[in-house]
Amino acid sequence: ANGLRAEVASLVKRRQATFGASSVLFYSEPIKMVRADGVWMYDSEGRRFLDVYNNVPSVGHCHPHVARAIAEQVGTLNIHTRYLYDNIHTYAERLLATFPERLSNVVFTCTGSESNDLALRVAKIATGGEGFIVTETAYHGNTSAVMDVSPSSYKSRVVPRHVRTVPAPLSPVSGEDVGQVFAASVKAAIADLESNGVKFAGFLVDSIFSSDGIYADPAGFLKAAVDVVHAAGGMFISDEVQPGFGRTGAMWGFERHGVEPDIVTMGKPMGNGFPMGGMVTRPDLLEPFCEGTGYFNTFGGNPVAAAAGLAVLDVIEGEGLIRNADEVGTYFRTGLRELSNRFPVIGDVRGAGLFTGLEFNDEETREPDTAMATFVINGMKERGVLIGAAGFYGNTLKIRPPLCFSRENADLFFDVLTDVLGEARN
Ligand code: PMP
Repeated sequence: ANGLRAEVASLVKRRQATFGASSVLFYSEPIKMVRADGVWMYDSEGRRFLDVYNNVPSVGHCHPHVARAIAEQVGTLNIHTRYLYDNIHTYAERLLATFPERLSNVVFTCTGSESNDLALRVAKIATGGEGFIVTETAYHGNTSAVMDVSPSSYKSRVVPRHVRTVPAPLSPVSGEDVGQVFAASVKAAIADLESNGVKFAGFLVDSIFSSDGIYADPAGFLKAAVDVVHAAGGMFISDEVQPGFGRTGAMWGFERHGVEPDIVTMGKPMGNGFPMGGMVTRPDLLEPFCEGTGYFNTFGGNPVAAAAGLAVLDVIEGEGLIRNADEVGTYFRTGLRELSNRFPVIGDVRGAGLFTGLEFNDEETREPDTAMATFVINGMKERGVLIGAAGFYGNTLKIRPPLCFSRENADLFFDVLTDVLGEARN
């Protein structure tokens, strides 16, 4: 153990020396990973961790079908995107077949940030506006334009002049209609932009509200807000970087709300770890954008990306992962709700498919219990289960395992959580 600690300390030191202030790591005692497969990750001591946090290797870590497809393609042809090659078209057609008919064009990028950056530009040209509305704790990426619409990363929490934030669509309080409350906030934000001389361009949301703390229910609540956006002439941009590719028990997160976005952005799980992103929209929105400025991305949609993307779709379909996400997700939330009877510190349990938010609240005051969330995250890590937190107060566990997560994996999670919450009591 001393040897390992010395090895980890030396890596941390090298990282700090070279990355400088930009070095960011998980946990006060970071883990050195050496390999992974399925839902498991292994550290340099051979310790095995159940991964319930990573939504990038969404079809399972190092899935052999995806790994083989990437390796074969990278050894055959890997060029920039201005030549003709077959597999990107097969991929584009298969991907677009999962969308409503009118969303029939795709632009490939390499990250979620690039996709959202592009979506903001398309929405601005389509509307002639520049004002955007996002949720209060949203994260949409790291370019300078996308940072402006990512309040969770403002250090000083100063909202730029062309941006308005609305509170997350919190779970219903005594008979309140979540959809109407949310739509009213969006309507007020549009009015506020316009009264300050900023023309409204669009409403950008992660349709599972991941960094806000995961809000999924009741299904359909987004519709009223989307109607308000369209009535005001704005674009509805659905950021599917987190919920997309089957995570919520449907291919796309917006499906459970019965809405049709004008623009959809995607990333993370798209290549199961191979850097891929994309933006899907209607031809009538893409054309004016391309007339005005055009878009070129050296790596976005190259032959290796296409191979990775195709293999991911094969696995989602071939292994029935969307149905698994739905069934195991329901089993998981039912189990957590049962645990909340034994441990009142567990508050709301919410989510869709294999995306669950588990809130901790003080047993007496019911105030957010961020310290408990942190205690649980560290306690579970010590027992070999990896998990993260989200939400305005950081008191919500963000539970997001690979989509091949099984009932046995869920049972292990329950046992470990029970153990940690028992320790917290003592
Ligand atoms: N949108 C959402 C909802 C995200 O969670 C993230 C990444 N956490 C991004 C966009 C940005 O994606 P990337 O890091 O690939 O640029």
